[in-house]
Amino acid sequence: MKILNLLTAALAAIPSALGSPLRRDFNISSFNPGPVCTSTLPVVNISASNPQLGFAEFLSSGARAPWPVDDSGTRTVRYCYVDKNAQTVLDESFKAAQKIWIDALGGPAGAQSRHGLAFREVNDGTGELYCYIGYQDFNNRGSWNIAVEDDVLAIHLSTKREMKSMVGYLPVERWSLDIEGRHYMLLSPVPPDQTWYTAHEIGHTLGMIHEHSRWDRDFYVFYACKNVPGYAEAVDRAKAANEFLPHNAVCSQREAALKYGFLAGLDFIYGGGEAPWDMTDGDPGFDLSSIMLYDSTQYSPPECMYGFHSRCVLMKYKTVNGIRVTDELEPIMSNKVPSAADVMFVKRWYPWTGAPNPQPGMPAGTSPENVD
Ligand SMILES: [Zn+2]
Repeated sequence: MKILNLLTAALAAIPSALGSPLRRDFNISSFNPGPVCTSTLPVVNISASNPQLGFAEFLSSGARAPWPVDDSGTRTVRYCYVDKNAQTVLDESFKAAQKIWIDALGGPAGAQSRHGLAFREVNDGTGELYCYIGYQDFNNRGSWNIAVEDDVLAIHLSTKREMKSMVGYLPVERWSLDIEGRHYMLLSPVPPDQTWYTAHEIGHTLGMIHEHSRWDRDFYVFYACKNVPGYAEAVDRAKAANEFLPHNAVCSQREAALKYGFLAGLDFIYGGGEAPWDMTDGDPGFDLSSIMLYDSTQYSPPECMYGFHSRCVLMKYKTVNGIRVTDELEPIMSNKVPSAADVMFVKRWYPWTGAPNPQPGMPAGTSPENVD
């Protein structure tokens, strides 16, 4: 299983490097706005739960923002498909993934569900409004459709069974960026029993990053860096360069991983992405049930899930009632729905702020939040 993190540029350098405003003909394919996450499709799916609470995100630091409030009072992820083919192939699974989140949140945005998250495909009334004109593929995108706002999330169809997504909303105020297509997802069509993979990418779009990127992860999960494809080659390159590096530097230092081509390892370096100082461990702790946690199949050979645990990349310590009591490890199964903490994240960053839904027997204008 191959997982690539395509980011190469330090986002922290972008504001000064690019200035503002950006040209309309800016080539986004050379920009790689990040971080993006890449997940691949599963080898083995086994449901599991081990509820704890926590999340990891890029919003508290201001590195990214929640999607802005629109005219309806909701924080709506507005999206377009890059072309008709992407819409045809992806629409069903993308909408099913949206439903996974909305169901976990207790229903659509409103006073009753106490969240303000919504999704909406941009529409000009024809049902055929796409992000680009003359789109060919991810690297040859044609021209942005001027009928679509610059910040709309562009949904691309992956040709490599890769899934990746921008993390959160890029606030123009911070980055001086107003580039069309800067919010994007690259999706593969998935069967209904794998829709959670698309839901995982939606988690990134909302501002979440991988749970295993948390600073406190080592107490809860065990990361076997040597099992990640490309590790041995990266170490060999480092040795050949005769550079003094701390033990396992390619596993723990982003710069070393990049320098020696250990791209898969980037997904496991603390902090996530290229700006680890921007990542915040959500309270109150590590969440083994998060939809944002890689299961043990990621990057691991198939035998990992069939008892050869020494081959797994990411394992979890056994817990009792959410408390680790042993050094014994077990595989991490796929979390197919948002956890309680994932839901907490959305309700914190995408709260309902609009008018309350009418409640039976309740005077108009009375919010349920005010009466319980
Ligand atoms: Zn991911």
